[in-house]
Amino acid sequence: MASLTVSDITKVYGGETVALDDVSFEIPDGEFVVLLGPSGAGKSTLLRLLNGLERPTEGEIRIGDDRVSGTRSDVAMVFQMHYLVESMSAYRNALTGALNRTDTVDSVFTRYDEDDKEMALRSLETVGLLEEANQRADSMSGGQQQRVGIARALTQDPQLLLADEPVASLDPKAAQDVMHYMKRAAAERNLTSIVSLHQVNIAREFGERFIGLRDGNVVFDGGKDDLTMED
Ligand code: ADP
Ligand code: ADP
Repeated sequence: MASLTVSDITKVYGGETVALDDVSFEIPDGEFVVLLGPSGAGKSTLLRLLNGLERPTEGEIRIGDDRVSGTRSDVAMVFQMHYLVESMSAYRNALTGALNRTDTVDSVFTRYDEDDKEMALRSLETVGLLEEANQRADSMSGGQQQRVGIARALTQDPQLLLADEPVASLDPKAAQDVMHYMKRAAAERNLTSIVSLHQVNIAREFGERFIGLRDGNVVFDGGKDDLTMED
């Protein structure tokens, strides 16, 4: 269903910075992939291309049989800076994911329906925050806030879940916690997932397949057993 095919992708910024240089890989439906690489390797660029936020200079990205040509309701993204509305509850934040499911231009005026509400609650349950649903986002710990960010992505009901350095600003315990729930969410909903990380220890603990980027090139694509020489 939601397999992902990246074919000969090159991204050049400003006519000179080659952020990605002829990158290709395939991810089968439901696979959980960790994207590794040092700062500047091209991880964020790749995720923004997959998310349709930017267009490749060359090459093609397909989700299933569809060519990606812009943002899509079936692709959800979790960010390093979770971008929650701090004064809203975990539940209200999770609910906003439903706005990305519709193509309504005036989404500000969209009224959430029962399905949206049910999905928001189910998403909070998946990330273990049902009991905290009514807490304000700014009263929660960094790890909990990021789990709300995951819940919001799940409320979008995506097929592809992308996460750009979701644990980079968390302490090790919170980082593990967030990765645990991310993986659980992906497994529970059979989401094809790509999570970028720069900490190899966390990557090893949660990853199955690893794609390593360096200077815009894929320098590694394999399982845990082959991972030793990576950064
Ligand atoms: P990260 O390593 O986490 O991607 P960066 O500090 O490299 O963080 O980049 C932060 C943001 O600034 C990203 O959205 C990135 O695309 C953008 N950015 C990075 N380098 C440049 C640049 N040379 N010109 C314009 N924007 C850039
Ligand atoms: P990573 O996420 O692995 O840190 P990025 O994708 O942010 O890497 O950056 C890859 C390269 O592309 C870097 O050289 C960065 O400075 C450059 N870059 C990223 N975004 C932009 C942008 N919007 N404009 C110009 N250069 C950018």
